[in-house]
Amino acid sequence: MLNIQKEGLAIRGAKPVREKWLPYGRQWIDDADVQSVVDVLKSDFLSSGPKIPEFEKGLAEEAGTKYAVAFSSGTAALHAACFAAGIESGSEVITTPLTFAASSNCVLYMGGKPVFADIHPETFNMEPQAILKQISLHTKALIIVDYAGQPAPYDEITDMASAHGLVTIRDAAHSIGSIYKDRRVGMSTDMTIFSFHPVKHITTGEGGAVVTDKKELYRKLLMFRNHGITRDAQELQRQYLPKWYYEMQILGYNYRITDIQAALGTSQLQKLDQFVDRRRELASLYNEAFRQMPELAFQRQAEGTSSSWHLYPLRWKRDYFTAGRDDIFQALQAENIGVNLHYTPVYLHPYYQSLGYRRGLCPNAEALYDEIVTIPLYPLMTDHDLQDVVDAVTKVYNYYLK
Ligand SMILES: *Cc1c(COP(=O)(O)O)cnc(C)c1O
Repeated sequence: MLNIQKEGLAIRGAKPVREKWLPYGRQWIDDADVQSVVDVLKSDFLSSGPKIPEFEKGLAEEAGTKYAVAFSSGTAALHAACFAAGIESGSEVITTPLTFAASSNCVLYMGGKPVFADIHPETFNMEPQAILKQISLHTKALIIVDYAGQPAPYDEITDMASAHGLVTIRDAAHSIGSIYKDRRVGMSTDMTIFSFHPVKHITTGEGGAVVTDKKELYRKLLMFRNHGITRDAQELQRQYLPKWYYEMQILGYNYRITDIQAALGTSQLQKLDQFVDRRRELASLYNEAFRQMPELAFQRQAEGTSSSWHLYPLRWKRDYFTAGRDDIFQALQAENIGVNLHYTPVYLHPYYQSLGYRRGLCPNAEALYDEIVTIPLYPLMTDHDLQDVVDAVTKVYNYYLK
């Protein structure tokens, strides 16, 4: 845990709303999850056993796709998706700046160039018109992020992608369980990736996956996960083979998930709907409370979407408060509310600055970054916890309101 700077306590002398720290997110592990892991530990296979295809089958069903390939992390899944999409030196890939760095780092891994398109100021998702402006002769793919769990405008985006022959990759690290126009999460793009990090909807400790309907992409993803090796007789270049024979055909990685993790994943997947329902319930209670405070803005939900609410970002419109985001952030921490920040626009990080990206690229994302604070949201939160957050926000709001 960070050392909380009580120095910056906004409301000096007043007792904090909560005595005990409330984290911004956390996993929910029950006895069935524990048992699923113990069973694998006592079985014959710890890795590359029967639990991986079982987990993948469940993921494909959830996503509404034919295929799923599980990986050691969401980042590995993104890397594999970029490989399968054919990203190489000279390829440009358009993505959002308002995301975790992995969404664009995966392009750099393949030698490609991330290009950032600005967000809509109210939905906080990628704006189709902004994407269109960035399309060039070198554009190969789009990596679309469903910020905080809300599906991006896929109809507009995929129309544009097919007009320009672009591969569509959906970074659904925030949005497993979300719905876009009656479609499940894997059904809108060529590939969709998930993360199973403990703050995400379901967890395997570390883990990720790519789902797709396309056999050709599926084949590439499988090879990439396992050093570029295949044993599939139909794919081998040599014929009349001994039983032991395999070929390494491309430069892949060891990005395999373990059977231990996959078993946990299958057990967690049974509870996904329940987790997402609870997140939606908590989010609507937050919305109801913050509607009373027009100087605060929360994410506008686009028509036809049902978010799975990974995060609850709250925007403090600078003009209405005597203090900026950092003071507000610190004041909420002093109330023992686990706040967080999603995200620093990726290209403002020093590494991206060293690559030549400059401030001013995406004004909407930069403006949002200056005003945003993520407040706690996870299914294990009680209504009482939620009321504490609302009380703390109200206290800080009243204190700093002009
Ligand atoms: C968490 C996350 C990732 C990376 O997933 P890991 O499993 O932590 O590697 C990628 N993109 C987004 C938007 C994320 O939130």
